This record gives sequence, C-alpha cells and structure tokens, in this order.
Amino acid sequence: MKMMLKCSSCQKGLVKFSNSKLCLCHECYMQNRLKKRLNELEGTSLAQITVEYNQYLFRMYLQYINRYYLKYPILKQAEDLLIYLTENRIAPFTTWEKIYHESRLFGQQHKVVMGLTGCPFIKIGKMLNELEVLPPKSEDCSQYYIRVLKRFPLEKLEAIERFILFKKNKNILDKTIILRLEFILYLQLWSTIDIYFLNTTDIQNYYIFLKDNGHSQHYVSQSHSSLSEFFNWCKFEKIIFLNPCIGIKIKRPTGQITVCDENTVKKLMSFIKNPKSDPEQAFLLALILIWGFKSEDLSFSKIEIKDNTFKIVIRRKKLGAVKYYNRNQVLEFPKDPKWFYTLQKRFYKKWLAQYGQLHKSYPNYYLMLPRYRSVQSLTDGTIQARVYEATMAAVNEKIPPKVLRKTCGNLHSSSSDASLLSALGWSSEYCFRYTWLPRIYFKNSKN
Ligand SMILES: [Zn+2]
Repeated sequence: MKMMLKCSSCQKGLVKFSNSKLCLCHECYMQNRLKKRLNELEGTSLAQITVEYNQYLFRMYLQYINRYYLKYPILKQAEDLLIYLTENRIAPFTTWEKIYHESRLFGQQHKVVMGLTGCPFIKIGKMLNELEVLPPKSEDCSQYYIRVLKRFPLEKLEAIERFILFKKNKNILDKTIILRLEFILYLQLWSTIDIYFLNTTDIQNYYIFLKDNGHSQHYVSQSHSSLSEFFNWCKFEKIIFLNPCIGIKIKRPTGQITVCDENTVKKLMSFIKNPKSDPEQAFLLALILIWGFKSEDLSFSKIEIKDNTFKIVIRRKKLGAVKYYNRNQVLEFPKDPKWFYTLQKRFYKKWLAQYGQLHKSYPNYYLMLPRYRSVQSLTDGTIQARVYEATMAAVNEKIPPKVLRKTCGNLHSSSSDASLLSALGWSSEYCFRYTWLPRIYFKNSKN
C-alpha cells in the first residue's frame, strides 16, 4: 500500500520511504549515511595523523565540507586528504601562494575534479581566511603575477622580476604593479622587435594603433605613464641608453564626476529615512551616500556591540605608497537625528536575526552578512548586487556603488570647500578634484 507522508527531515511529501522506520526520503537517507561515515572518519582519522598542524588542517577541512550537501566524491576526497596529510608534512600556510603550491602537489597524487569536488587545500584556505590567518582569496595577487609573467618572453623575465621588486620596495600596491606590467606586456605583444630597441616613433605608432583599435584616451594616457616609468627604470639600470617615451606628449583626458541628480538624491534620502523601508537596504545606502563607504569598507567592516549601541570597525590593511589613513578606524554613529537612530536599531535587529541563522566556526561580526550558509566577507560582486537591489527599491533604478559614492563627495563638497571629505578618509588630492571637476548626471542606460 502506498502512503503519502512527509519526510521527517526535509518535509517533502513522499510516495515511498527509503527508510520507513525513520520516515526519511531517499535523499535525506543517503545524506544521513554520508554524514555518519564522515563522523566515523573524523573519529578514527585524527589519530592517524601524527603532525599536530596537519590534524588541525584536516579538522578544518571536515568543518568546511560538513556545512554543505555531502556527495560521495567529497567523502572520497576526505579519505584522500587523510592519506595525504598522514604522509606529508605541511609547512604553515601564511600565503595563498603556499596553498596553491600544496594544491598542485595534491593534484599530482589524487584526483581533483573542479566543479565536482574542488581542491581540499583551497577549502582549507577559505577556512584560514575566516580565521583571518590568510587574506581573502580575491585579494591575493600571486596568481595574477604568475599569469602575467607567463606571457613575457623568457629572456625578459629576469629584468621584469627585478622591476617588480623595485616597485614592491617602493610600497606600490600589487594591483598597481600588475596593471603596469600588463601595459608593458601589451607593448611587447604588439611589437615585432624586442621592446628595448623601440624608438620614439615606434612608441608614437603604438599609441596611434591603440586609438585606432578603440582604446580610450584614458587608456593611452595610462599606457604612456606605465611605459615611461618602465623605460626610465631600464635606463637607470643601463639596459637601454634612452627612454623612448621622453618627449611624447599625451593629452590627459579631462575628468568628470558622475553623480546622481537632485531629484534622485531626494528620493534616496526619503527611502533611507522611511521607517518602513528594508533596514538593511536603507542602512547600506546611508553608509555610502552619507558616510562615503567603499565596496571594500562594506565587505570587511565589522560591528562591535556595547550597551545596545553599535560601532563599525573599518578594516585596516597595508597601505600603498601615497595613501594614508585620514579616517577613524572606529565609527560611532550619532543618536540624532531620530530617524537615523531608529534606522540603526532596525538594522541591528535584522542583523542579529540573520547572524543567528548562519553557520559560524569563529565569531566574525561582519557588518554585511551573506544570506546563506556561513559568515564570511562579501565579494565586490555581491556588494554591487546588494546596492542594485537597494537602489531599485528606493528609486527603481540600478545605480552603481561608485556613482553613489561620488554623489556623497558631491553633497559634502557643495556645502563647503571639500575639506570635509578628508574626514571620510579620502586623500587630499582626490578631494581637490571635487572643487573643480565638472559634474555630469548619472543616466541609466535603459533611460
Ligand atoms: Zn527528505
């Protein structure tokens, strides 16, 4: 006789049970079995691993896979990893580069299927990031360096690597160095001869080529400064006699600041003040529009709770050559005006509820929380999607975070002399732009 009953675990209505004693559907039944096997593995495995650090890594791996739906190949991978960690001594992971290195070694001995099982060391890396031992994977530049360097001719590598070191010693950020390398690489790919033999006319022809191929004035200008800098260094190192970029004048593109028009700002503000709007969306918009938060600030800020009020602690990371901190690391919010105090309370209430629902291995009170699974920092893409959701709710338009932030600059500078902006942690050079650059109003492409 067929019985229509619900699975006791997933509550799906069923025709047939895989295990009638426990009232489980086939999927839940299999899932339970796999989880049980994983538990057994955890119980017996740790004694097999003699090195304490390896034990620690294995425990972290198990913690990671336990959060997700278990599949047989993952269980198999756990067994492979156990063997690997029993046989190899792992040096402490201090960079993503070391994770990738171990990942390659593991891949040589065991099957890793991207998309199906993924790499166990990348998973461990993500857990180490949650512990803040490693930076977020998205911020690690080692892979980008490898990718760019691979495309240079072999005989250039020695010099390029020295150039990188020279830049690093000057505290230039990795992102900036990689961008510079790409400009040098494009010239190399374009040129039929060794770039050390190019003269001024060749370089000029290269810029004409760039323009003819649809590159913007901004791109050409950036190319020029990167190449000029590189050839200057080459000259200093006596690799070449003359910098071929010298004497070439490239018109710098005139900047513009894209901001929201007055009407949009009015609507955004009334959404922020409205006690009925979604507190997360309203607070997010307030942070960008009033406090000038960058995507990065939103991703990595944490909250600190004390006496029922909360503060925001902004992440501090290594600074580049010309950047410095202007802004306080801890932001305490005022209780006035009243609408803002109410918004804080509403936001905090929603935050608490959401935090309670997420998995967490370590207490990480990120200001912006993921909607599912575990507590971790949001990526730029997710932040952008959240901002789009919020602006859609507020003005029925997708406004990029950058435009909102520039609007913030515009609001602060139109009332005074832009020096207020430095309180937001913006560099004086960047603030100065707000005193003279022309503004254009943001128009969505669909309008
Ligand atoms: Zn079920």
